[in-house]
Amino acid sequence: MSKRKLTRRQSWRVQKVQDEKASRLARKQGQLDATDLSIAEEQGLVISHLGKQVTVEPQQGDGNLPCHFRANLGAIVTGDQVVFRRDNLGQGVVETILPRTNLLARPDVRGNLKPVAANIDFMVLVITPDPPPSSVLIDRYIVAAELQDIPIKILLNKTDLLNEGNQQHTDELMIRYAQIGYPTWRCSAHNTDGLADLKAELNQHTSVFVGQSGVGKSSLVNALLPNEQARVGEISQQSKLGRHTTTNAKLFHFPSGGRLIDSPGIREFGLWHLPPEQVIEGFRDFSPWRFECKFRDCKHRQEPGCALQEAVTRGEVHPQRLASYFAILASLTET
Ligand code: GDP
Ligand code: ZN
Repeated sequence: MSKRKLTRRQSWRVQKVQDEKASRLARKQGQLDATDLSIAEEQGLVISHLGKQVTVEPQQGDGNLPCHFRANLGAIVTGDQVVFRRDNLGQGVVETILPRTNLLARPDVRGNLKPVAANIDFMVLVITPDPPPSSVLIDRYIVAAELQDIPIKILLNKTDLLNEGNQQHTDELMIRYAQIGYPTWRCSAHNTDGLADLKAELNQHTSVFVGQSGVGKSSLVNALLPNEQARVGEISQQSKLGRHTTTNAKLFHFPSGGRLIDSPGIREFGLWHLPPEQVIEGFRDFSPWRFECKFRDCKHRQEPGCALQEAVTRGEVHPQRLASYFAILASLTET
């Protein structure tokens, strides 16, 4: 922990020199009167980003404050840890963005990747026993998370709907992902089963909830953020109207501990564009085999000596995972 802080501190020092140059330039241009800024640098967390300002939650002291930032700072997003200075009008200026552990990006309408949120500890993929989850869709979310270095966990919601008809399929699916190495857990937003464990999992971390419409993301967020009901309604309303923006991700604190970064765009994360040539890297269970094939350019379909197909035959890779891989590739090349 302290080691990470030290590294961060060192990297702001480097950044600070550049930043001071930029600050002098900005002052010259009359864009910013830095003489009004307090000398003390503080660290804070970006909790929302609206237009030309971000809202920063100071690490010490209370009261969030709107902060400006210089254009040369680069993209600044919800979840960023920043160094800022206060002015004498109750606002501030972001000086530096501290190094990120990861950056979630999504394509804008023109297909250019735009950063949306940073420093996410877990992506929580919500699925349900009913309707039964599609393996391909689960794998699509997993690949999207893997390609952006965001750890993903699988949460089965609506356990109250488990019955003789869907129990076996659901259990098999949960075991399959646990064996690959994805943590799984279960809850019901309706009868509160498993919610205490869920709160414990989310505590101390920054999470995002993703998954198909109807799996209960809003209901879970309502159960975990009881004072934010109106906001959750607002998000699903916006989502239905299709008014997605890439900049409206907001950070919330769960009263039971932990943070949530949420926006309609983030909830649909797995459905964003994937670069076809990288898809296979999102299947971590393929990695021991996919370089062992007889042919270096093996596509893992009908080729003789395909180590991945052989691993499927031996039961070391689940056949549905390979099927998902081909299904995802096919979906990406459809027009
Ligand atoms: P979202 O689209 O993922 O945000 O899903 P919602 O939270 O809007 O929930 C979709 C539907 O599932 C609503 O009718 C909820 O009442 C219902 N729902 C949510 N959680 C549960 C649960 O744990 N059990 C049952 N039976 N229904 C649930
Ligand atoms: Zn192969």
